[in-house]
Amino acid sequence: MIYKRSSALFAEAEKVIPGGVNSPVRAFGGVGGTPIFAKEAKGAYIYDEDGNRLIDYINSWGPMILGHAHQPVVDAVVEKAKKGTSFGMPTEIETEIAELAVSMVPNIDKIRFVNSGTEACMSAVRLARGYTSKDKIIKFAGCYHGHSDSFLIQAGSGASTFGTPNSPGVTQGTAKDTLLAKYNDIKNVEDLILANKGEVSCVIIEPVAGNMGCVPPKNDFLQKLRALCDAHDVLLIFDEVMTGFRLAKGGAQELFNVNADIVCFGKVIGGGLPVGAFAAREEIMNFLAPLGPVYQAGTLSGNPLAMAAGLAMLKELNQDAEVYSRLEAKTKYLHEGIEKVLTENKVTHTINRVGSMISVHFDEAEVVDFDTAAKGNNTAFKAFFHGLLDAGVYIAPSAFETWFITDALSYEDLDFTIEAVNKVSKTL
Ligand SMILES: *Cc1c(COP(=O)(O)O)cnc(C)c1O
Repeated sequence: MIYKRSSALFAEAEKVIPGGVNSPVRAFGGVGGTPIFAKEAKGAYIYDEDGNRLIDYINSWGPMILGHAHQPVVDAVVEKAKKGTSFGMPTEIETEIAELAVSMVPNIDKIRFVNSGTEACMSAVRLARGYTSKDKIIKFAGCYHGHSDSFLIQAGSGASTFGTPNSPGVTQGTAKDTLLAKYNDIKNVEDLILANKGEVSCVIIEPVAGNMGCVPPKNDFLQKLRALCDAHDVLLIFDEVMTGFRLAKGGAQELFNVNADIVCFGKVIGGGLPVGAFAAREEIMNFLAPLGPVYQAGTLSGNPLAMAAGLAMLKELNQDAEVYSRLEAKTKYLHEGIEKVLTENKVTHTINRVGSMISVHFDEAEVVDFDTAAKGNNTAFKAFFHGLLDAGVYIAPSAFETWFITDALSYEDLDFTIEAVNKVSKTL
């Protein structure tokens, strides 16, 4: 394939945008080469600036669960835009989408809309701290909750239980309030809570991790986490920015039948526009300003265009009883197809899948946490990525990302993808 125009556009972008991108993973740092510039998209396909057609397995990192430029979403946004794009006043559509979200998701009474998943997680943690009057939080290595300070933390050295900043600009003061646990290791979480008795406000987790590849919770990990939090008066936050409205109408809470205290949303809930949200039972949500003491605000929060896109998306998902089983069936088909050709071509691999999230790891050991995810053969991944790209299949440019399956994919697209994997795996 030819990437001439993309390369030229990237060179221009680099002059005025740091690294040429507005979010680092887009720069292809993990795989080498220059990023592809998207021109337009429809259904399962992206058309780039050189006119290449790519089958898209990123789907804007999740939101396009029904495909690009999905007609009801486009129509809703266009109609709204004609009537004014922002008022800074309450609008009826905010209540409509809130009512629908509350009806779809278990165990939430109220929801507050923000502009990104980062904002949702940051605000959820502030609410948890305010509600419990405790400062520390526990997060899991390899889970991503956006780029706010409290989450940009890596494991501390030696015997210390608290983390250290993993980006300059995050202070030691902030880092000392974030404790880092191992995904799928309940004993580790319990030890952290006991070592910091009375100080932990909340545990925040991706109920299915999607930012170290796809890593499912194992052996009732979520149920055990729920019990542990209850025993120690700690709030459980599910970061469902990726899994919300994707794994089921009610997200991971519904799929695993475990209730969280606070739930964060992003991605699908905005239908491709910048939306995040966090939600909880009434007594917790009433702690937020203007009812309660915990401050949180946003000039463009609940923006009418964003709400129109989100509402159209949630309505589509809510009224289509079969959508989640179709997504699951397509993902399973892809999983089995890829598994077969990788095995036939003797490529060492592990595939993880939950619902419409799937990831291919180039290591034979089971991938259950950040350490096992990091062991994958990155040289193989890079070759795999570029081989697929040249064949017209676009997966995330990093070994630590999940593929997001869209309902717009046809079985011909899936077969095309499996054949592309077959050809590429002969070169690995
Ligand atoms: C994408 C993501 C976020 C951050 O959302 P942004 O909209 O990029 O700020 C937070 N948590 C999870 C689980 C995510 O996948």
